[in-house]
Amino acid sequence: MLPAAAGPLTVAERIGVIGAGIVGLAVARELARSADVVVVDKEDEVARHQTGHNSGVAHAGLYYPPGSLKAELCRRGREALSAYCRERGLPYVECGKLLIARDEREVPGLREIERRAQANRVPGLRWVEGPDIASVEPYASGLAALHSPKTAIVDFPAVARALADDVRAAGGEVRLGFEVTGIRTGGSGPAPAVLLRAADGTELGVDRLVVCAGLQSDRMSRLAGDEPGPTIVPFRGEYYRLRADRTHLVRGMIYPVPDPRYPFLGVHLTRTVGGDVEVGPNAVLALAREGYDAGTVNARDLWETVRWRGFRRLARRHWRAGVRELHGSLSRRAFVASAATYVPGLTAADVERAGAGVRAQAVDVDGSMVDDFRIHHLGPVVAVRNAPSPAATSALAIGPYIAERVTASRS
Ligand SMILES: Cc1cc2nc3c(=O)[nH]c(=O)nc-3n(C[C@H](O)[C@H](O)[C@H](O)COP(=O)(O)OP(=O)(O)OC[C@H]3O[C@@H](n4cnc5c(N)ncnc54)[C@H](O)[C@@H]3O)c2cc1C
Repeated sequence: MLPAAAGPLTVAERIGVIGAGIVGLAVARELARSADVVVVDKEDEVARHQTGHNSGVAHAGLYYPPGSLKAELCRRGREALSAYCRERGLPYVECGKLLIARDEREVPGLREIERRAQANRVPGLRWVEGPDIASVEPYASGLAALHSPKTAIVDFPAVARALADDVRAAGGEVRLGFEVTGIRTGGSGPAPAVLLRAADGTELGVDRLVVCAGLQSDRMSRLAGDEPGPTIVPFRGEYYRLRADRTHLVRGMIYPVPDPRYPFLGVHLTRTVGGDVEVGPNAVLALAREGYDAGTVNARDLWETVRWRGFRRLARRHWRAGVRELHGSLSRRAFVASAATYVPGLTAADVERAGAGVRAQAVDVDGSMVDDFRIHHLGPVVAVRNAPSPAATSALAIGPYIAERVTASRS
């Protein structure tokens, strides 16, 4: 564990942020208003991992338990993101989302989402009976639906690049190609409180550190002295894309009612700001944390996953869902069949392979997938241990939330 509690920020302090994804950059942008900030990332450009491989949806906050960090930061983050995109001339398109209950069994789940969405003050929400679904999405069908007209699509990598520009404009630094391999804390006197060491031996001293390392967040946090759990278990989300002559099947976004046992939203159809329609993502266990295709295997990543007691418990409980997802991953027909249950005209011939992303899902030692955002404090270090969806939507609210804790709190 780490020593000495950090006191309030003084002007001369230098703050390091590990990770130039949207969360790290939003934190850095906020801190750069009052401190000397340096963001480091191992890649040679920003947004190379989750921020650059996601569905591009600015979530309106329908699903999250009222009172949770996700509920609060998603609501505030979406408002801030919409304003930011307007200010910076970035695309932000409110094409709306329809959440469809396909049969009687899914209606209670949809009603529960409606209840949560109302508690979360999601704007413009409307219950739609089956026959009226076509007035929102002409090619969709189901027993009932929830329409969220304010759910939007955005270009998260473009937002991340704009945030990096803001950090630089405020006098901060975004240092790319700096892969953190060591963190020493506890320095005193002339020694920096935190010393980062990069793979090439370069050292960087800072007074405080924020860890926003996504798929590597547990490893970076442990290097800084944090406890082992939760551990990141990587789940790949694969996408198909509708062929250009079939994109008329979807106006905005069409989602199924998610299985409440999992933090994933189920295979959905989403317009992108580039004009494509994507189908996906599924959720298959990735054999490498940065494994964007099924053939990529990283022995260390795999070993750390299976060695984690929490993962073994998770696997025992949910292996059937794992096998189902794997089947969908191997068979285009099975993948598309799940989306065709709410867009009946869709066939396997309508899609072509698109990209994939890998979710950094934190799993506790008891085998539960951490649902809410989780942030640890240890002396001069604040570590983001779980920032799954909707963290991209929420980033501009997560930034001030964490910055406040870094600058004001005694940990
Ligand atoms: C398939 C998929 C779909 C999603 N869809 C949505 C969506 O529609 N809407 C939404 O709001 N959210 C969505 N999300 C979630 C969202 O993308 C993430 O919550 C968000 O991008 C997390 O941002 P981050 O900055 O924490 O992580 P990341 O973007 O992963 O950034 C972490 C950074 O840390 C760096 N790093 C790691 N280790 C080191 C090291 N040792 N040294 C230096 N740098 C390091 C990495 O290079 C990386 O740039 C989705 C995620 C996935 C995977």
